[in-house]
Amino acid sequence: MLTICGTGLAGLRVAAELRERGYTGQIRAIDREGVPPYDRPPLTKELFGDYRRPLSAEGFGQLSKLVDEVIHGTVTKVSGTTAYVGDTAYESDTLVLALGADARQIIPGSLTIRTRADADRLRAITGSVTIVGGSWLGCELASSFRAAGHEVTIVEIADQILPVLGPAAKPIEQALLDLGVGITRTMPDQPGTIIEATGAIQNTLGLDLRTDLWGRTAIPNVYALGDCATLEPGPRWGHWNTALHQASRVAEAITTDPDTEPDPLLIDVFSTIAGKELILIGDTEGTPVTLPDGSRTLWIKDGVLVGGFTIDRPADGVAVRRNLGATLTNEEAIDSLPLKKILRSKR
Ligand SMILES: Cc1cc2nc3c(=O)[nH]c(=O)nc-3n(C[C@H](O)[C@H](O)[C@H](O)COP(=O)(O)OP(=O)(O)OC[C@H]3O[C@@H](n4cnc5c(N)ncnc54)[C@H](O)[C@@H]3O)c2cc1C
Repeated sequence: MLTICGTGLAGLRVAAELRERGYTGQIRAIDREGVPPYDRPPLTKELFGDYRRPLSAEGFGQLSKLVDEVIHGTVTKVSGTTAYVGDTAYESDTLVLALGADARQIIPGSLTIRTRADADRLRAITGSVTIVGGSWLGCELASSFRAAGHEVTIVEIADQILPVLGPAAKPIEQALLDLGVGITRTMPDQPGTIIEATGAIQNTLGLDLRTDLWGRTAIPNVYALGDCATLEPGPRWGHWNTALHQASRVAEAITTDPDTEPDPLLIDVFSTIAGKELILIGDTEGTPVTLPDGSRTLWIKDGVLVGGFTIDRPADGVAVRRNLGATLTNEEAIDSLPLKKILRSKR
């Protein structure tokens, strides 16, 4: 018996990837939310639209068809490969922990966003909102609320929104300001409803969920992936594509027990803010080279492309993903031609 704890993107995809590899063993899934696995990115980006999207409708697999049994309940303890839901022990040969993370809440009484039930609560807000935290989720929520006609303020203690991007975030900040979103460093006197988007806390059940690149923890036959796991080496947990890639690797590890290490995963983030499609790939270290219109920033370290951020330039996002490690000068990077063309002309 193989037990998967947590039925979000990571848990569902491990089940699907195992079956796609011909795994015929029994699979049990433990589901805390009581609803079929659904996608989280629409909860902020499409809060007032099509936000209730099951992952099965997007071609990621139907949990009930992939596993032999779904247990509804919260895993309270794990010991070796046994998961406990209250007093009931679920023994297994292999345990997969895909418990995700829960929203951090520092401000008493604030609302947060992590689950579909959270989104239902946010949709019921009337009047102005203050969003504490100007990172990805905070900015996505700000644009959704503003587009729905709410007065919106983002409170970000750093000196800019999306601090991870440094100056590359300027056009996004401007787009939010143009929409009428207020951005401040201090709480407004009349904040309206406070929504906190200050990050998330990994659900580890007190275990050390550091894993190798195959998702193996230090506990024999226990794997961890998605937001609950800390990949060594990175990237940091918290992004959809990372969970997706990890699922494929965990399934591969369970079915083949490989003795080689795969390549490290990349930071690979997508977002939609103020109607703009954003892609961040790789590292934001080194020298940022931003096009004059702000639509592409490439980070170059020692003459090599190490990362890129694109705004409504999806083809450039793909080109960054495929060409990390390519040699590139600052002069070449400032050329507004598609990145693919710039790199091709060097060959
Ligand atoms: C609102 C929102 C928007 C996002 N947008 C983007 C985006 O645009 N781009 C991007 O790259 N990433 C985005 N992310 C991050 C991305 O969705 C996550 O990285 C991804 O969902 C991780 O999948 P997961 O399966 O590890 O965790 P989750 O999807 O959180 O699933 C974990 C599941 O485990 C369950 N669980 C937790 N504890 C227990 C327990 N003790 N027992 C049983 N079950 C338990 C949870 O209820 C949940 O159903 C977003 C996240 C959120 C919350």
